[in-house]
Amino acid sequence: MEATKSRQTKEFQAETKQLLDLMINSIYTNREIFLRELISNASDAIDKIRFQSLTNVDILEGDSDFAIWVDVDEAEHTLTISDNGSGMTYDEVIENIGTIAKSGTKLFLENLQKQESDKDNLELIGKFGVGFYSAFMVADTVTLITRAPGATGVKWESSGDGTYTVEPITKEKRGTTIILKLKEEHCGKENSEELNFLNRYTLQNLIKKYSNYIRYPIKMKFPASKDEKDEKPETAAEEIKTVNSMQPLWMKPKNEITTEEYHEFYKSLFHDWKEPVEVIHSKVEGMVEYTALLFIPSHLPFDFYSRDFQPGIRLYSRNVFIMEHCSDLLPEYLRFVRGLVDSADFSLNISREILQHSRQLKLIGKNLEKSVLKTLENLLEKDRSKYENWWREFGRSIKAGIYMDFQNKSKLQDLVLFYSSHSGENMTTLKEYVGRMAEGQTEIYYVTGNDRSTVESLPQLELVRDQGYEILYCFEPIDEFAIDALSEYEGKKFRSVSKGELDLKNTEKEATKSDEPLFKAIKEILKDKVADVKPSHRLKSSPVCLVSGENGISISMEHFLDEINQQNTMKATRILEINPNHEVFSVLKSHFEADPNSPRFKDYCELLYGQALLMEGLRLDDPSGFAEKLSRLMVAAG
Ligand code: ADP
Ligand code: MG
Repeated sequence: MEATKSRQTKEFQAETKQLLDLMINSIYTNREIFLRELISNASDAIDKIRFQSLTNVDILEGDSDFAIWVDVDEAEHTLTISDNGSGMTYDEVIENIGTIAKSGTKLFLENLQKQESDKDNLELIGKFGVGFYSAFMVADTVTLITRAPGATGVKWESSGDGTYTVEPITKEKRGTTIILKLKEEHCGKENSEELNFLNRYTLQNLIKKYSNYIRYPIKMKFPASKDEKDEKPETAAEEIKTVNSMQPLWMKPKNEITTEEYHEFYKSLFHDWKEPVEVIHSKVEGMVEYTALLFIPSHLPFDFYSRDFQPGIRLYSRNVFIMEHCSDLLPEYLRFVRGLVDSADFSLNISREILQHSRQLKLIGKNLEKSVLKTLENLLEKDRSKYENWWREFGRSIKAGIYMDFQNKSKLQDLVLFYSSHSGENMTTLKEYVGRMAEGQTEIYYVTGNDRSTVESLPQLELVRDQGYEILYCFEPIDEFAIDALSEYEGKKFRSVSKGELDLKNTEKEATKSDEPLFKAIKEILKDKVADVKPSHRLKSSPVCLVSGENGISISMEHFLDEINQQNTMKATRILEINPNHEVFSVLKSHFEADPNSPRFKDYCELLYGQALLMEGLRLDDPSGFAEKLSRLMVAAG
């Protein structure tokens, strides 16, 4: 098409209209991203002319001082973004700005319609950015003035109402200028909760946030600061500042970056006051190409377990910020990892996205997961105490990873640490535990309880400990979930000291066959409370203990579930174990033999059950009944 002399009014393509409507009616809270979009277009246009000038320097028309300018006019309520990039010809303006020619955009629009609600639409905007049209989120009218090298200037204008005008004009400088007539609510109106885009400091912050690592200087004019000692104030009416830092840290060669630089970068980008425990900086080429800069924090963020915590990795595409919290990149259990990924495979533009996007993300995500785990393994090996401190903060996440997905078992089992009966103040790995296993020991023993002193005083531990077997201590409910998911390590099964039967060589006297009627009688008395009553193979000095069945949940898990859900119906199978070597057993036996129906015998059975509950830290079913029986006993004993 030949450029006409006169101004023409044209209709937007149907699909463009649709996208525009979405922008104009947008209640999207992140409208500020329009600035990122326009700046990234400017940067692309400079890239383009720079590339062309490599073979034809003339197209630069002597202007090779590449820059992007951001300026405001408070009186006119306009925000202007200019560049000296490639500019556009008349036809290019119509082609690029008036239509959505790319098939990918159509796909995006179809995708939009499939979303449940407007809210989901808006999330898509946030995720992918919507290029040039995002300007209509904040502006009533958008004017674009542009000139390509050697061509006539063009002015394009639209109020987003379905039509646009386009006309040839004279423009001296090569490049593109976009003038946004800002919506009233973005002009610092009183009572407006929207950002004021006439405010230079607001703009400066947005540029730092979204476009800090754009390769070209983004320049703004600021009124000269008053407190600066200037001999001739009238000459310093304004100062021009380059707002962005231009050089992205992750693009620098690794050997040129100091640890300090990494740490400072982490702290300022992720608002942490402490150094990370590890930094992972990798550049990958091949199936997917990306640069990743990841940080493993050294301490839990205060809101880590709250709804407010936003996990995710920042995404950049060739230095341009795309998304702040991409949570699809790493598995849920690594949600503590901070950092960014820059890949040219991510496109800022929705049109090229959607399908391939998720596949790329998956591939990159797999690599990142591997390198995070490798880094943790190395840390465990080379700096044990640093790792242990880290584990105390984040171990729960790794344990959650084990039970969330059974495929994670082999990846994560060697990262897990436990306190144990042998580890003292420090912790042990499973490998170390197995390495220390005693002669004849076939299983890995563990015990659950609130803290060290509770578990160490549990009667169930007595004989296991006597055998010299090490016992892992599980102080958190998640430990039990993780151990259930692991089920074994190097062929050794995990065995709770208070669940099922223990396969211990019992040197003490066993209960004999003749005791069977006694156990039956006790079981009959306690039939509403326990599933079984058995002679114990794990007690030494205590008369009784409560254990749970081989299958099903443990008593401490039941306790935990009760705490988080008052209607919990998951109950452990309770088994009362009695120590046949204990004096109490003999007393019980003699009462039973004298008169199996005596009230005294019944009381004793219930008192024993009560004791077992108390030692488990559980509530008595009938506290006043228990107290009454105990008092009766004291009176009788004198
Ligand atoms: P994208 O940048 O992903 O291609 P946009 O909607 O942001 O999509 O921009 C559409 C097109 O308009 C660009 O591809 C480019 O050809 C053109 N364009 C936008 N801004 C500029 C600019 N400042 N200079 C030159 N061309 C531009
Ligand atoms: Mg763009």
